[in-house]
Amino acid sequence: MQLSTYFLETFGCQMNVLDSQLVEGQLRALGLRRVAIPREADLILFNTCSVRQHAEDKVLSRLGQLKHIKRDRPHTIIGLLGCMAERLREGLFELNPHLDLICGPGELDRLPELLGRVDESGKPIAAITGLQTRRLVPAERSLLDDPLETLDLSRRPLPGDSIMQSYVRVQRGCDKFCTYCVVPYTRGAERSRPPGNIVREVQTLADAGCREVTLLGQTVNSYAYREGQTPMRFADLLRLVHEVPDIDRIRFVTSYPADWDDDIFRVMRDHPRICPYLHIPAQSGSDRILKAMKRNYTADSYLRLMDTARQYVPDIALAGDFIVGFTGETDEDFAATVDLVRRVEYKQIFVFKYSPRPGTAADRSLADDIPQDVKARRNNELLAVQTAIMERQKRALVGRTVEVLVEGYSKAARRAQKDAADSNGSLDPENPTTSPLDDVAASKANQLIGRTPQDIITVFPGDAAHVGALVAVRVTDASALTLFGEIESVVSPAKMPANPGT
Ligand code: SF4
Repeated sequence: MQLSTYFLETFGCQMNVLDSQLVEGQLRALGLRRVAIPREADLILFNTCSVRQHAEDKVLSRLGQLKHIKRDRPHTIIGLLGCMAERLREGLFELNPHLDLICGPGELDRLPELLGRVDESGKPIAAITGLQTRRLVPAERSLLDDPLETLDLSRRPLPGDSIMQSYVRVQRGCDKFCTYCVVPYTRGAERSRPPGNIVREVQTLADAGCREVTLLGQTVNSYAYREGQTPMRFADLLRLVHEVPDIDRIRFVTSYPADWDDDIFRVMRDHPRICPYLHIPAQSGSDRILKAMKRNYTADSYLRLMDTARQYVPDIALAGDFIVGFTGETDEDFAATVDLVRRVEYKQIFVFKYSPRPGTAADRSLADDIPQDVKARRNNELLAVQTAIMERQKRALVGRTVEVLVEGYSKAARRAQKDAADSNGSLDPENPTTSPLDDVAASKANQLIGRTPQDIITVFPGDAAHVGALVAVRVTDASALTLFGEIESVVSPAKMPANPGT
C-alpha cells in the first residue's frame, strides 16, 4: 500500500531528538505527512530510550496500546526505533506481535528501504547494527561519516518550523563503559565525524536561518579525528565551527571530565560566540562511588576542573548530572555528593535515582542495595540544596540586563491563547488590550520565552516579531529556574519569518 501519513514520538535525550528530525526528513522525502494522532497514521514510530527502566516501561505501555489500532486498521505499520530496538532486539516481536519493524540507531538511514520491505512482505523486520559486539580499529573511527547525517535532508520537522536552534552531531557512541550505563551497548563504539562535514552542515543550517547550534556527542570533548598526521581535537573543531560567520551561538553537550583538555577553555575564552555554558556530569562526590562507577576521576580533580573553568571563563554556567543510591552508597558517600554540589554552585543539576540496566557491569556484579525510599530522600535532599543555590544565583541577576535568543511564546502564553480560542474569545497576542478576556489572561498571552548564553530560561512580554531575535532583557524578578523581565532593545532582529506556535 502507499503510506501517506506518519506519527512519530520521541523519548530520551538530544541525540534522539536529532535522530527523529533526520528520520522525519526521510519520511517527508517519501511524501509522507505528519499527523498528531496515532490512529490517523499509516506509519506509527516510537524513537526510544534505554537509559532508565522507567523510559522503557513507558514505551512498552504505549506500544501495548497500539494493539487496538492494528486490529482496526491492519495496514498500519508500527515501528520501534533507537536504543530499545538495539537492546531488546527480536524479543520485542514475541511480546508485541503487532510490531512490524525494529531499527537500531545505527540503521536509521535505511528506514525507507526497510519500510518498503515490511510493506511488500507483510513480515516483521529487524535492523540492528550490533556495533557493541566488536571493537572498531582506529581508521574506522575516523574515516566513516554517519550515513544518517550525510543524507541530504532538510532538518525542519515540517515546512515552516523553525530551525533557529539546531543540533549537529559531531560524534556517535561511547567507549567509556561507566558501570551503570547502557549507552556503549546501544550506540556502539565512539566514532567522530569528519570536521569538514560538520562545518558544511553548520554552514547549511546558518544559510537556512539557524542562529544557534549545539554540537552533540556522548562525550563531546573526547572528539578526535585523524586525517593524515595531524589529529584534530575538540578544541580545534570549536575553532573551525566558530569561523562560520552567521551562527550567533555555539553550545556543546555532554562533556566527560576525565578527557578534559584546557585548550577547550582557551577557545571558549577567546571566541565570543561560544556560549559560557558547560554541562559536565559529576555523578557522585565520593571517590569510592566514582571508582565503582568507573568514572576515571576523583572528586578533587573534578573540583579543580570546575575552578579552572571559572578562571578561564568567569561568567561560565556549570551544569551537572548526579546518580543517587548507586550500589553501596552510604550516608557519608551521599554527604560528599552534597558537599560537591555546594562547592561547585551549579547553574542546574539533573538528579537520577539509580536503576540497574540489564547487561551493564553494575547490573552483572553489584547488588542494587539501596532502598527506594532512601534513594527518593537523597534525590529530594540534593535537589533542595541545588534549589537554594539557584534562587541565590538568579536573585543576583535582578536589575541586570541579559541577552536572550527568543524561542517563541511560553507554554502559559500558548495555553492562554488556546483558552481564548476555545471560549470564542479573540485574544490577539499582538494587541492584547482588544481582548474580551481579563488582564491576567491577556498578559500571559503575550509572554515570550528564550535563553541567555548561560542557558537561563527568561520570560518577558513581547510580540511575534521578536521570535528569532536576539534581545536585551532587563531582569525585574527571578525564581529558582527562571528570570522575568522587560525587553530593553533588539540586539539583532529575527533572520527568518517567525513560527511562534508550538
Ligand atoms: S561516558 Fe559513561 S555515562 Fe556517559 S555515555 Fe559513556 S558510558 Fe554512558
